[in-house]
Amino acid sequence: MLKEGKNESIHCTIRNCENHAKNEDYCALDKISVGTHESNPTNVECTDCESFKNKTW
Ligand code: SF4
Repeated sequence: MLKEGKNESIHCTIRNCENHAKNEDYCALDKISVGTHESNPTNVECTDCESFKNKTW
């Protein structure tokens, strides 16, 4: 649930993302999608936030 422009259920440090809450390390979306670019994901590096949107500065 969004509270003051941040979703406290989704901690995130990707400040390069357009969806980041900016002042605090949370996502500002209601929900995100997580996926993988691997055929057989075995560690954290195999996972991706598919809701990432490159920030236009
Ligand atoms: S969309 Fe993904 S990468 Fe972007 S702020 Fe939200 S959780 Fe972080």
